[in-house]
Amino acid sequence: MSLKVCKFGGTSMADGNVIAEIKKIIDADKARKYIVVSAPGKRYSGDIKVTDLLYGCFKELQKDGQCKNKFSLVRSRFEDIARQLNLSLDMKAVLDETEKRILEERSADFIASRGEYLSARIAAEVLGAKFIDAEQVIFFNESGSLDGEKTNKAIQAALSGVERAVLPGFYGKGCDGKVKTFSRGGSDISGALVARAVNASLYENWTDVSGFLACDPRIVESPKRIKCLSYKELRELSYMGADVLHSESIFPVRKANIPIQIKNTFRPDDEGTTIVPTSRYVLSGNTVTGIAGKKNFTVIFIEKSLMNSEIGFVRKVLSVIEDLNLPVEHIPSGIDTMSLVISSDALDDVKLNAMLEGIKNSVEPDVIRVIDNIALIATVGHGMSSSVGTSARLFKAIAEADINIKMLDQGASEINIVVGVKNDDYENCIKAIYAEFFG
Ligand code: ASP
Repeated sequence: MSLKVCKFGGTSMADGNVIAEIKKIIDADKARKYIVVSAPGKRYSGDIKVTDLLYGCFKELQKDGQCKNKFSLVRSRFEDIARQLNLSLDMKAVLDETEKRILEERSADFIASRGEYLSARIAAEVLGAKFIDAEQVIFFNESGSLDGEKTNKAIQAALSGVERAVLPGFYGKGCDGKVKTFSRGGSDISGALVARAVNASLYENWTDVSGFLACDPRIVESPKRIKCLSYKELRELSYMGADVLHSESIFPVRKANIPIQIKNTFRPDDEGTTIVPTSRYVLSGNTVTGIAGKKNFTVIFIEKSLMNSEIGFVRKVLSVIEDLNLPVEHIPSGIDTMSLVISSDALDDVKLNAMLEGIKNSVEPDVIRVIDNIALIATVGHGMSSSVGTSARLFKAIAEADINIKMLDQGASEINIVVGVKNDDYENCIKAIYAEFFG
């Protein structure tokens, strides 16, 4: 039997009118049984998301010992929603209780989580569904990461025999018994955890866009929509900045082979994008599925004659990086050269100098050079591995746009070619690749 878990993002919860639309969506399909919601997002450009208002409450609390001013903004957002929906829920009492708990708990995570909590209370009321608090079913372990097994069992137990339920996204309980949140955008992960626990036939992720686009619409006007993506392609694209879904949200559903469908709450009849297990992926005929990228990386270029025959060279370089707790994005290498690509945000002057000194001392390179202001662009697609000449087309398109490639990395899976170019060439490079493969 088909069973769907639906996650509604912030813009789908932004005001009473959209929440009424959600009710229509849920009522239209009996399979849509379990619903995960985010905190209300922006109603118009320039508006403030409830989660950001709540982080503001935490700041006010730290500064003044109370958060009356900022909480009054949160209060009026939810009171407006309750009024628009004509709820029988006593919203004032729920908000009073929430404010009281905020003053007792006083942690940033607890305060931030209240947007989802209040959203879910409202959605449960509107949908005539059981409210299940994420505190009771999502657990983190001592290291602060998700306790997958405990969570899975708790969700299964809580939902067993329940016809329709609403759960707040974004948070769970830490092993100290306190509320703990995922990173920003983490309601996607909560939705995926519920989908896995109930072995859903589909995880529907309702947003304000009709799916993934082949590249950033701020760079290319009206790029093509991607109808179908594999988990692997999604991981590559969302890691590189395509931000429709939280990049960690796919792991729980991927494990259980559950497809994800990105849908648009404001255009529910649009087909959206379906993300399927790689084994079920059918080539669409397109060589490239999508293009994504990010600016601001630093490349550390290292050269030493006979590097390839010096046993332990790479390990020594990487231990310097590890000791400084720096994340490395890519390590392109040649016979006598290797480069480390690191996000510039992670590198301040002190860390950079410590890294350069450390590498000089441990491997005595002939040359070590720092190249900054680099943008990385990933061209992704299963079709790339089966079509001959894809890299040639890619490089020719970039060369014809008069852009110099500073770095290159092609993973062994052949579904992703990453090029590094100057930050200033970023937009033009994406345009050139798009024109070549989709134009
Ligand atoms: N409300 C949280 C955020 O703004 C989590 C989410 O929306 O998924 O990041």
